[in-house]
Amino acid sequence: MSNLSEGIKVKLAAMTDDYIKQLPARFDEVSREARKARIKESLELLTILKGSLHKLAGSGATFGLEELSRKSKELEDFLNCFINENPDFSSFNWPDFDRYLSEIERICKPKENIGELEELEELPEMLISGIKNNNIDLDSNRHDRNVLIYLANEEDLVLAEIADQMEIFGFQIKALYNLPDVEKFLKEDNCRLIIVNTEFIESDPSFGQKLLQIKKIYSNFLSYIFVANRDDFDLRLKTVKSGGDAFFVMPIDTGILVDKIDKLTSRTNHPPYHVLLIDDDPEQIAYYALVLQQAGMITSVASDPKRVIEVLVESKPEIIILDMYMPVCDGIELASIIRQHESFLTIPIIFLSAEQSEEKQLEAMRSGADDFLTKPIRPDNLIIRINAKAARNRNLRFLMERDSLTGLLNHANLKERISVEMMRVKRSGGNLCYAMIDVDHFKNVNDTYGHLAGDHVLKSLSRMLQDRLRRTDVIGRYGGEEFGVILINTDSENAFRVMEEVRKNFALVKHKSDEDEFYITFSCGIASFVECETSSELNDAADKAMYEAKTSGRNRTIIHKK
Ligand code: GH3
Ligand code: MG
Ligand code: MG
Repeated sequence: MSNLSEGIKVKLAAMTDDYIKQLPARFDEVSREARKARIKESLELLTILKGSLHKLAGSGATFGLEELSRKSKELEDFLNCFINENPDFSSFNWPDFDRYLSEIERICKPKENIGELEELEELPEMLISGIKNNNIDLDSNRHDRNVLIYLANEEDLVLAEIADQMEIFGFQIKALYNLPDVEKFLKEDNCRLIIVNTEFIESDPSFGQKLLQIKKIYSNFLSYIFVANRDDFDLRLKTVKSGGDAFFVMPIDTGILVDKIDKLTSRTNHPPYHVLLIDDDPEQIAYYALVLQQAGMITSVASDPKRVIEVLVESKPEIIILDMYMPVCDGIELASIIRQHESFLTIPIIFLSAEQSEEKQLEAMRSGADDFLTKPIRPDNLIIRINAKAARNRNLRFLMERDSLTGLLNHANLKERISVEMMRVKRSGGNLCYAMIDVDHFKNVNDTYGHLAGDHVLKSLSRMLQDRLRRTDVIGRYGGEEFGVILINTDSENAFRVMEEVRKNFALVKHKSDEDEFYITFSCGIASFVECETSSELNDAADKAMYEAKTSGRNRTIIHKK
């Protein structure tokens, strides 16, 4: 077992201990409610007691006290029958009620030791690798320089050129000339991809074996891209046997290589999922939040249903885990309220409750829920289900909002973000700039080098924008060869500086078609908030400035002036 999973076990066990310590007090509260309901013969008080028993059933299940959960549920059902069928206190079966209650008391206030607590299950290996994965996720963001190794002979000229181009795209590339150095580097640095010249595996048959061994040590976290000076089946096979993930033949198109590197490294590079837990019981929220956090997810919590919409707006979760019974309103009602908001229609809602009734579960599903999980649920089971749901939802959202060639926001979503960001900046004050980019003489690229080469140019520009801008900035493909960038909290002077840096760097990228190499530039226009007060003014102003950049000679950035 790794330290981390030991860590989870220790923390979960500590939370369970705390829960058990508080059980006598919890029972006293339940017992007080029972006494009051009995004295006053009040249906309302009995309903409150029923709610407390439901909570006890749920928390008991969560913390592994299966018998407590079952007995509480039995009394809850018993009260339910009475309340729903024949609420006449003169015929209430008090002896049965007392018997149920004393069974619960026996569990909550054991005379000697608590024999029932089950050992927390060991988390399976699969989860541990999930945790490792996500630790890397948390460390990475768009602007962390991805570290690469290039393994080649010292006199390799191709290396120097690829290294230059990779650096333009924001990679840190380390040239190494032998395997021991590679092994040493891997131990010290967070490198996840090695570009290997195939000469190594051709000249030394054991070299491929060694590469494969190294890859096994780092399992999913290391990828190999082989570069060869010819395309040949036997050579391809050798690279596959050495653990190769991709095969490139020289000369290499930087755009395609960068795209491949991004794909290979993003396997373990997605940002963590954000989960909102809604439950009125702080202990259960804390327990499930901990389980999900340890699996690398980010959690927000809400214990007051009235505040949920506010929390949704603020924390923008990707998935909601909802309890069934809470004061003020129940989970089904809350799910319906959430679904009334257009912007929350697509967030998956998953019920997590001790509710066993199939009828209730179906009712929950009809209110707009995506799934119903019953307590108790094993931590690994919960994590796998939430991960799967969140991943699927993220993919769907990506397809809906993004442009398929570049992965940037599409036209409609870019425009929507401009209005949202304008509203935000008006409310909070501060700065905002909008930059419009249009590739120069792009039609010529298509005409001269083909449409495919044109597509690669667009992809590499999109990649560079993503690398050079901040995580908070919003990048979209406005259409064709036009891009829009919303620079949050940036004045026009700084926007100009940033866009000029991108423009100059992009002009250095060497693009390749089948036979030729070429360079491409773009023109950029910038408009700012304050000067422009609405999103359409902002858009028009940036467009005008961009047009001015075109007419005054292209390959330049111009700030709109009134
Ligand atoms: P200017 O410097 O004035 O902007 O000239 P330009 O040639 O870039 O402008 P124009 O608007 O005349 O041409 C844009 C071209 O972009 C025409 C269109 O075929 C091409 N284009 C638009 N979308 C795509 C795409 O997704 N892939 C490729 N390869 N070409 C595209
Ligand atoms: Mg255009
Ligand atoms: Mg153009």
